[in-house]
Amino acid sequence: MTIQPFKSVIKNYNVIFLDSYGVLKNFNGLIPGAIETIKYIIETGRVFYILTNDASRSPELLAEKFHNIGLNEINAQHIISSGMMAKEYLGYKIRSGKVTYLGTEDAAHYIEEAGLETIAITDLDLNDLDDISALVFLDDEGFDWNIDVQKTVNLLRQKNIPTIVANSDLTYPVSNDEVAIAAGGVAELVEKIVNKKFIHFGKPDGRMFMYAYELLMRQGNYKKDEILMVGDTLYTDIIGGNKFGVDTALVLTGNTRKERAEVLIRSYGIIPDYICESIGS
Ligand SMILES: [Mg+2]
Repeated sequence: MTIQPFKSVIKNYNVIFLDSYGVLKNFNGLIPGAIETIKYIIETGRVFYILTNDASRSPELLAEKFHNIGLNEINAQHIISSGMMAKEYLGYKIRSGKVTYLGTEDAAHYIEEAGLETIAITDLDLNDLDDISALVFLDDEGFDWNIDVQKTVNLLRQKNIPTIVANSDLTYPVSNDEVAIAAGGVAELVEKIVNKKFIHFGKPDGRMFMYAYELLMRQGNYKKDEILMVGDTLYTDIIGGNKFGVDTALVLTGNTRKERAEVLIRSYGIIPDYICESIGS
């Protein structure tokens, strides 16, 4: 396993796609050197996008969170989230009725921007489901597991509606050794129980890569071999990038720790083109 400095790796690419959590920041806050690296990318005329599995809030609010930790160069226009993909999808596909959701109010407000009316699963009356036209799993917080997950199962037993998973991550890291179960994990559990197929957004799905690529095409005639996808998770970022046909760099500041990287790469069979200590290296 050869570890290369990030600065030397990106020299070969004009476009950098970056995951957010575990790459730019983690549970300790900002990754050391991240600000300098983003500045370097901009100053050298490179283009970057953040591709993040996040359905908790709008790109504007996500950008604000970057600004709060000193990443002032990252704007809403740089951010492509799985929530954006889900919102766009709901806007096209759901033309009437209400969308019920598991997640926070912030996330629901964002979905409402697609012109939809929302109702938290908690406030749903299972005896009055006539105007409920879709269910969406937003992000992890803001619902009562015991009550709301049961209610969701009963809703789907009673009514056949499209179900959208706006962030398919199963877990998220809360410390060096521990993870918490994310909404995507709850969605898979419910999917199994009700035996239905949900519509999943977020990496490794190709939609966010395609969306970023379309934005890029408006800025110039970029080729896929000019793009590098940088991520901390093999089974979302790296396989997503590999499938889309761009080169990939694994960083060791998030889900894939240095001691385990070689074993994980071998066992998953997901091979990054590069391994870097961090984006600050
Ligand atoms: Mg990550």
